[in-house]
Amino acid sequence: MKRSSAWHLGGGTLFEASGQARPTVADAASLTVLREQVAACTRCGELAAKRTQTVFGVGKERARLCFMGEAPGADEDRLGEPFVGRAGQLLTKIIEACRLKREDVYILNMIKCRPPGNRNPLPDELANCRPFLERQLELIEPEFICCLGAVASQNLLNTTTSIGKLRGKLHAYRGAKVICTFHPAYLLRNPAAKKDCWEDMKYLMREMGVEL
Ligand code: URA
Repeated sequence: MKRSSAWHLGGGTLFEASGQARPTVADAASLTVLREQVAACTRCGELAAKRTQTVFGVGKERARLCFMGEAPGADEDRLGEPFVGRAGQLLTKIIEACRLKREDVYILNMIKCRPPGNRNPLPDELANCRPFLERQLELIEPEFICCLGAVASQNLLNTTTSIGKLRGKLHAYRGAKVICTFHPAYLLRNPAAKKDCWEDMKYLMREMGVEL
């Protein structure tokens, strides 16, 4: 029996063999499809081998406001949801102090797998996950993004400016207005910085037209 020539090409896939284009991240038409693509991802060998599961994001699909962390920790890896550990509980309190609920906003991380030992994500890992992040934000289309901590702030905005200097002004990511504040894990270690974070939140709420 004569086989289609596509079967003879090393590395060819069923999609190529059948003449269909392979679905790409950019084609993901919904967060559900994108979530499945993330769950199947093995771009970062170490993270894919060591994760319990990927941690995609949670909240309102077309939220006006996104909170952006850096990477899942141990609790998030176990439960599959971002910001559910101690830092997450503080984030929930911050959201509620803004007279919002977790369900009103969208919470996500720069990368979707836990770095072992909670180390910072490596540049390659951030780069590998970037297409997922960009598509996720395109689908949510938030008006505002609040970056939590230096890793999320510097990587989203593609800058090396310190978190201290990024705070207190509006930045831009594609169509969204971005503000940067301290990471809740940092606030747990340095409670004196909570008042600065609250100033950042009041500024963000003013920009959003939310009365506190
Ligand atoms: N820290 C983060 O940056 N993200 C999480 O999801 C949890 C802790």
